[in-house]
Amino acid sequence: MQILIATSNEGKLREYQRLLAGVPGLVLETMATLGVKIDVDEDRDTFEGNALKKATEVAAATGMVCLADDSGLEVDALRGRPGVWSAGYSGADATDASNNAKLLEELDGESARDARFRCVIAVVSRDGTPIAVAEGACEGHIGLEARGTHGFGYDPLFIPEGEEKTLAELGPERKNEISHRAVAAAKLVRLLNQKR
Ligand code: IMP
Repeated sequence: MQILIATSNEGKLREYQRLLAGVPGLVLETMATLGVKIDVDEDRDTFEGNALKKATEVAAATGMVCLADDSGLEVDALRGRPGVWSAGYSGADATDASNNAKLLEELDGESARDARFRCVIAVVSRDGTPIAVAEGACEGHIGLEARGTHGFGYDPLFIPEGEEKTLAELGPERKNEISHRAVAAAKLVRLLNQKR
């Protein structure tokens, strides 16, 4: 099956290329190599709603089977924020650095720093029919300072359960064993295999 990964996020794309490599018969296409530029308004208030919306709109525009994920960080002390709004947490011109700075600021003096990443992956057919939806989570806590250079987004602040290093220090190999995206991708592969 040929699947277009509907994301312009380079970090996510790198992870999917590793996570789904080696799935027999799966050929991954990217928006960049196909020259596809589509801006989807992620206005749903659930990860699943946004993932399905992204995959469906990109499938309609390209006529391809599409995979999209919506993911984000839930911080308990912030009652689950930034959640589905993780990408734009620090404002309209948010960057990974400004988001991380805002998170440290909001948690300043807070000792309860439990958090989790969540990811929902949706795959839809060319005509927009959902083929599979899979979700994953990765529990951990928010560190006191940004550390590490790998990954993207909040990786420099996120210390997974059972680890002492941040995801950005652990690097792609370890991240792809334990991340929310890895858990969701493993479930997705099982679902796709059942449909063969
Ligand atoms: P979206 O799924 O494109 O709406 O973006 C989700 C946002 O959540 C990203 O821009 C990051 O800020 C954050 N995020 C999602 N997954 C990860 C991850 O694996 N590491 C770090 N940050 C992530």
